[in-house]
Amino acid sequence: MSAPGERPFASSVCHTCRHLRLIESARGSVFLMCTALPRKYPPQPVLRCAAHAPVESGT
Ligand code: SF4
Repeated sequence: MSAPGERPFASSVCHTCRHLRLIESARGSVFLMCTALPRKYPPQPVLRCAAHAPVESGT
């Protein structure tokens, strides 16, 4: 479990993917939800993913 405000599974490639949504529970736990895969909560940490789409830098 992670402390409130912290990103769990820092090694997960999901953190650099635009399909990631961080979901915070009422108790302050943060979950990594994927909007691209049928399995919305893949086992973490995800180290490789064929559906990974880099977050755009905005430049
Ligand atoms: S597409 Fe893959 S890398 Fe991106 S959020 Fe979903 S599981 Fe993570």
